[in-house]
Amino acid sequence: MLELSARAKSISPSPTLSIDTKTKALKASGVDIVNLSVGEPDFPTPDRAALAGVAAIANHFTRYTDVSGILELRQAIADKLLTENGLSYSPSEIIVSSGAKHSLYNIFMVILNPGDEVLLPAPYWVSYPEQIRLAGGVVVPMPTDESTHFKITPAQLEAAMTDKTKAILINSPSNPTGSVYTPEELQALAKVIEAHDIFVVSDEIYEQLIYGVHHYSIAKYSDKLKDRTFLVNGFSKTYAMTGWRVGYVAGPAPYVKAMSSFQSHTTANPASISQKAALGALGTFDPKHREEFQARRDYVLNELLELNGVTCTKPEGAFYLFPNVKAVLGKTLRKNNGETAILTTVDLLCEELLTEMHVSTVPGTGFGAPDNFRISYATSMDQLQKAMDRMKDFFGRIE
Ligand code: PMP
Ligand code: GLU
Repeated sequence: MLELSARAKSISPSPTLSIDTKTKALKASGVDIVNLSVGEPDFPTPDRAALAGVAAIANHFTRYTDVSGILELRQAIADKLLTENGLSYSPSEIIVSSGAKHSLYNIFMVILNPGDEVLLPAPYWVSYPEQIRLAGGVVVPMPTDESTHFKITPAQLEAAMTDKTKAILINSPSNPTGSVYTPEELQALAKVIEAHDIFVVSDEIYEQLIYGVHHYSIAKYSDKLKDRTFLVNGFSKTYAMTGWRVGYVAGPAPYVKAMSSFQSHTTANPASISQKAALGALGTFDPKHREEFQARRDYVLNELLELNGVTCTKPEGAFYLFPNVKAVLGKTLRKNNGETAILTTVDLLCEELLTEMHVSTVPGTGFGAPDNFRISYATSMDQLQKAMDRMKDFFGRIE
């Protein structure tokens, strides 16, 4: 076999998606599995969006569109950014892509030269470091832990800057930790960033999934900062539209234009039908979903805190919990068949949780956090109760 490229060899599959695929296959084979792995709302796509998609097909809106997305959708996104986020953008400063993951990749491809450094607060979402590296960039992780609720400090940021720093990534609310920066914390970071000539990639895809706190975009800090910020958002989380694949970036026009040129040679426009569905979705977020997520978070968190050797901070956003299991790593699990297993790593712990208890979660390793694992609580309360009963049993057998 001819050799794969060095690029292909350096890439590992997305752990969140591969664990989800494995879990779904087990489920299809009849295993009674609880899937807490993938970050995907369990609510249906809003009717208005689904019907707009159906109408797009019925009306034969099925051809190529503007590479950056139809003007109507970009205008509607601009209106949303103004009314909901207090940020003024023109449609020429917005590009719609096939999911926010695609949007992020476009950004890294147009701003990074080989060797450029990107400051990445850790724990981080699994695809950021892979995408940065694919674009030739160098990942500079900024470690955080429970002591600061997984948030970086202005001093830490200042200390991480070098003459190769090209961008910083901010993801608030965060996947996987659920942390949300307060406006004051973001303003303090913005002040440091403003003093350096670097870009900000602000991934705000979980902006609506916040519990008792407010979402603030760092782009609001000043016009100077807004001119260097890529605001990333999408329809997957707010509108339960993961499969439709629609995400977008709002940012400075020359860079958005470069992203459009790049996109014109890779995927061209996002699916025409999905664009119409996205247009139908805007403004239909149901606050009841937020209440439901909050109730689930509270339930799972309380149950987790009862488990032997588990600690967990209280996340204020997204739909993840990120428990710390450092205290049980290296300990022995008594298995159902009478054998024992030493839980040397969190990967092994999650593997045993899956095979012994049929509860699927994601180890923190891919998120840059080898003492933690991620639970997505975007599933029904029944499923969560089942999962927590099983976890109680599991952690009770570790000694
Ligand atoms: N950013 C974050 C933080 C995410 O968790 C995800 C996962 N869905 C994405 C971006 C990408 O979402 P999508 O491509 O479905 O729009
Ligand atoms: N972002 C979600 C997650 O972290 C969906 C899967 C993915 O794209 O990584 O689970």
